[in-house]
Amino acid sequence: MNRRTLLATGSVVAGMVTAGVASQPSGNDRLLAAARAPSDAGEAETHTERLLPDTDHETPLYEIESPRDGPTAMVFGGVHGDERSGIAVAREVVDWRPDAGTLVVVPETNRVAVENDEREGPDGDLNRQFPAGQEPTSELARGIWDAVERREPDVVLDLHRSLGVYGLHREYVGQAVFHSPDARGDELADALDTDGVPWYLPFHRFTARETDLSSPLLFQKAARELESTAYLFETTEFLLDRETRVELTRLAAAHVLAMHGLLEVEAGGAE
Ligand SMILES: [Zn+2]
Repeated sequence: MNRRTLLATGSVVAGMVTAGVASQPSGNDRLLAAARAPSDAGEAETHTERLLPDTDHETPLYEIESPRDGPTAMVFGGVHGDERSGIAVAREVVDWRPDAGTLVVVPETNRVAVENDEREGPDGDLNRQFPAGQEPTSELARGIWDAVERREPDVVLDLHRSLGVYGLHREYVGQAVFHSPDARGDELADALDTDGVPWYLPFHRFTARETDLSSPLLFQKAARELESTAYLFETTEFLLDRETRVELTRLAAAHVLAMHGLLEVEAGGAE
């Protein structure tokens, strides 16, 4: 946020702080415009597939293919069904247009949990069902993993939200980027701090943490078994309103796609 914007919004910000809720952050218009604009290379083609067809878990997967060769990125929302900002942004990403490569999106990964607005589905926490060196431990997890394996994504981004702030609340991990060793976690955290974290919430600056890949989480399994560059993104409900959480999640998705070559953004930095 530059000084002029700050002065213009100062009174609004003060009101929001009093109310204990952050206003919508400034964003990065150039990057988001690039995500939404058709590619110079021509029309992307979108294919839709039903994962786990004819089961309670049936859920759509969208594959958006740029005419230009490039990496494959997979974006997941709704692995935890009550984490609505990730679901909302994954639904938006379905309408984004990569400049190169293939963008694969599963907006409602745990569809039963999404419909019930609950973290877990009937088989428990989906993000603990991808153990190292073994088959995933539920029908849903196997169906999701099968879709991941078939695409061998170069990049995986799993969108979540927390109830607290990393390092401030012992049991919560919000405003954090967990990532595989080869990923650009620090760069992503810096970009989110620049574009999206309100200046008056210093504890909300993003923490980047390399993950050790030993736990049964979806993004870890993709990193260790398919050598995907993998990220798990966590915004927080603590002092942030819905629009801010959605904006931070949207920015995280756009930055990951740009950092890994699916989006081309003209030089000029954040708006
Ligand atoms: Zn989660």
